[in-house]
Amino acid sequence: PASEAGLYSESDQVLLLTSENVELLLMNSTAATVVEFYASWCGHCVNFSPVYRSLARDIKEWKPAVELAAIDCATDQNRKVCTNYGITGYPTIKFFHAYSKAGSQGQAFKAFPRDVRGLRHKIIDKLETHEEPWPPACPPLEPTSQAEIDSFFETNNVEHLALIFEDGKSYIGREVTLDLLQFENVAVRRVLNTEEGLVTKLGVTEFPSCYLYAPAGNFTRLQVHFEARTFYSYALQRLPGVVRSGKPPPVTTHVSTNNTEEPWRPFNRSRVYMADLESALHYSLRGEVAAHTVIKGEALSSLKKYISVLAKYQKHFHYFPGRPVAINLLRSVNSWLQNQTGDEISYEALREMLDNSAQTPDTALPEGERWVGCQGSQPHLRRYPCGVWTLFHVLTVQAKNAEGKDPLEVLSAMRSYVRSFFGCRPCAEHFENMARESLREVTTLSSAVLWLWSRHNRVNNRLAGALSEDPNFPKIQWPSPEMCSACHTVKGNGEHSWNNEQVLAFLLSYFSSSSILTDYLE
Ligand code: FAD
Repeated sequence: PASEAGLYSESDQVLLLTSENVELLLMNSTAATVVEFYASWCGHCVNFSPVYRSLARDIKEWKPAVELAAIDCATDQNRKVCTNYGITGYPTIKFFHAYSKAGSQGQAFKAFPRDVRGLRHKIIDKLETHEEPWPPACPPLEPTSQAEIDSFFETNNVEHLALIFEDGKSYIGREVTLDLLQFENVAVRRVLNTEEGLVTKLGVTEFPSCYLYAPAGNFTRLQVHFEARTFYSYALQRLPGVVRSGKPPPVTTHVSTNNTEEPWRPFNRSRVYMADLESALHYSLRGEVAAHTVIKGEALSSLKKYISVLAKYQKHFHYFPGRPVAINLLRSVNSWLQNQTGDEISYEALREMLDNSAQTPDTALPEGERWVGCQGSQPHLRRYPCGVWTLFHVLTVQAKNAEGKDPLEVLSAMRSYVRSFFGCRPCAEHFENMARESLREVTTLSSAVLWLWSRHNRVNNRLAGALSEDPNFPKIQWPSPEMCSACHTVKGNGEHSWNNEQVLAFLLSYFSSSSILTDYLE
């Protein structure tokens, strides 16, 4: 497909326009659409593409109201499209109203800002001057008044009304309104500091600040770590009764009615369980690898790398910090595997190793899956992929503790395992794209830990709201402020940022072998 040569791929959350789909996607759309017209050979476009990608991640919740799209004008097929839209230089960004008609040229962003925040504000400016018809999914963005609030619950059937008090220049109220667009049972309105009645009534002295208004008429201040957009949005998306549109409400008492065939195992959501690591190992070696009856070439070297990382012991640290029986098994499989000098092995031979070792005392790969921290509220949710992430986070942390020599050892083992064996092929492709794009930035063991964390958050961002999301375990940018408040901070301009040093400290402790719980092991 044309997209492959272009600057964006499907996992970027950017609509990829081509001569074939441009009319269909751009004209008569229910959402407004922002289009970047670029040429893949243009250096400025290449430099700008990471910003546009971050913007797409940043405003992904706004999609029903405003979509981001891009088209590569450098391909033969697309050139005419770009000419028709009057594009003469790259990159050009244009805003197309919802329900744009064929022949519409859109409005160009003149001298547009090259940062996410500036672009986000520009998009809001464009939305506010949106001509009729207004995109149906877009909530009102103008400031509210005492009169509207007084009769709010008569006309709106929601449990929570969040009021963001701010000055006229602030965009936070409008940003949070859009961030909550895909969530039910909550509405957000901005109130200007000049709205004296409301400001006095609530005794508001800080701008911005956020108050919750309940139908009974009482107000409470929303407690957040920082008075900033990300913190408001995160807190509001998690209010009781607030659910993502189209998702069943999360089960609040613990999920004994979890619709899975197994009894529910109560667990602590902020801990790692050995049972998940062992289950992941079991499924990977007895399930996923078993799909290859003959293992050769790249798959064979992937398997060797994977097992050798799992079996590694250095400076008193086991990379896989499991029970002695499992460690013994991994070591014997590893020495057997490293001795296989032929071009291929059969899975049968590997299976025999996995099973025969059980006859050797104190050597065993636990049988079967027993998910604990990775249990899902439905049988098709969480489990193995959750176990895979957890396993590799633990491995990067153990490699750091063991002062491994090669900072990429674990991540390249993961990359090749995922490429050769991970059953979810689109996942493997996305992961490979991320690895190709930025794995070279990893130069230390600490940056390996952080790389996996930040790429996992990318995946979380992309999957928030997807069918595979367990409503009881929403995909968040992890760890939440509740789990690690020191991990979160804000820049001078109010944008959220991670404190990487604190995140690293958190990860090293969270995934360390001494924090892993051994409940539910046989
Ligand atoms: P997971 O995302 O599986 O996370 C497991 C646990 O890790 C969480 O419960 C949390 O405790 C912790 N955690 C969460 N975020 C982080 C973080 N940033 N750093 C450290 N720990 C964290 N599914 C798709 O539909 N499409 C894909 O393209 C896709 N790609 C994938 C690629 C890989 C390599 C893997 C392993 C999985 C992929 N999946 C993909 C599956 C998806 O990411 C989840 O694993 C799955 O939906 C189960 O989600 P979960 O709620 O159990 O949380």
